[in-house]
Amino acid sequence: MGRVYNFSAGPAVLPEEVLKEAADEMLDYKGTGMSVMEMSHRSKAFDDIIKEAEQDIRDLMHIPDNYKVLFLQGGASQQFAAIPMNLMKNKVADYIITGQWAKKAYQEAQKYGKVNAIASSEDKTYSYIPDCSDLPISEDADYVYICENNTIYGTKYKTLPNTKGKTLVADVSSCFLSEPVDVIKYGVIYGGVQKNVGPAGVVIAIIREDLITDDVLEGTPTMLKYKTQADADSLYNTPPCYGIYICGKVFKWLKKMGGLEVMKQRNEEKAKILYDYLDQSKLFKGTVRKEDRSLMNVPFVTGDKDLDAKFVAEAKAAGLENLKGHRTVGGMRASIYNAMPKEGVEKLVEFMKKFEAENA
Ligand SMILES: *Cc1c(COP(=O)(O)O)cnc(C)c1O
Repeated sequence: MGRVYNFSAGPAVLPEEVLKEAADEMLDYKGTGMSVMEMSHRSKAFDDIIKEAEQDIRDLMHIPDNYKVLFLQGGASQQFAAIPMNLMKNKVADYIITGQWAKKAYQEAQKYGKVNAIASSEDKTYSYIPDCSDLPISEDADYVYICENNTIYGTKYKTLPNTKGKTLVADVSSCFLSEPVDVIKYGVIYGGVQKNVGPAGVVIAIIREDLITDDVLEGTPTMLKYKTQADADSLYNTPPCYGIYICGKVFKWLKKMGGLEVMKQRNEEKAKILYDYLDQSKLFKGTVRKEDRSLMNVPFVTGDKDLDAKFVAEAKAAGLENLKGHRTVGGMRASIYNAMPKEGVEKLVEFMKKFEAENA
């Protein structure tokens, strides 16, 4: 069997070109006679890999010099603790709850200080983004926290919240590098790379330098202190070397594709194919308020559990994999990240049309 169209929410599809290149270099990376997996993280070859990766993501996102780029481990979930530990000087933070990942971050932060849920869309199964233009931001909040693209529910902020001057912290795990970002609007942008960038095991955190200090909460582990990682250029201990190497290749691929403006256009085109079909289908319907729809994760349902299960099974048999929705939403979810070709979305819609005709 050849490759399938993989609609997994994460770990997820990677550019085929990148996988082939990695395969070619598996036994002998650029004449070193070894795989990147076998190489010292202090070697010249790896130093070039991590430095080039950093420069390429800086170029792609136009990251200003007063921001550090850290390659970390522990998943996005580890940052749910690291963020309050590093940023809570007043021990106060405001969270906007737009889904399970935002809620988990909110719950974790409660271990470290006074944490306010200043808005939520839980009342409608997180199917929308609340109005964030005039929220009751706390006077003494150290930061305002959002999950910018909600992987499970398929919503995305189209405008960032008005934080009334407070530092914005954003989990961008599932929209990382999917479109241009205005980095200076954020204090911290971070994400696990296994959704839209690379293999599981790497977290990238882009942090404004003034937020990287020795003034962290008492008991913060050395490894979780941003300053430790920043001072050592992400090489305080052994980093996830192979994962960083693959991320670097994806950055090169994104540059070759034309950068984030072009990715945004491509992602809009792909998402439109699916949303346009959903909007006129009599069988399938999207679950998200239209203006808040994500370009990356598209949940949809038939309204009939058995029919949903039949769809997922038949789609799999047709080479369209991992379309089962998250258990809290039910139905289906198509994750159509950067590396999903337009053809994959077209094939999915073609299949949905056929399924609709057969099950009308
Ligand atoms: C997947 C996901 C997480 C959790 O990532 P881990 O790396 O598994 O900890 C957090 N936030 C968002 C938005 C995600 O999509």
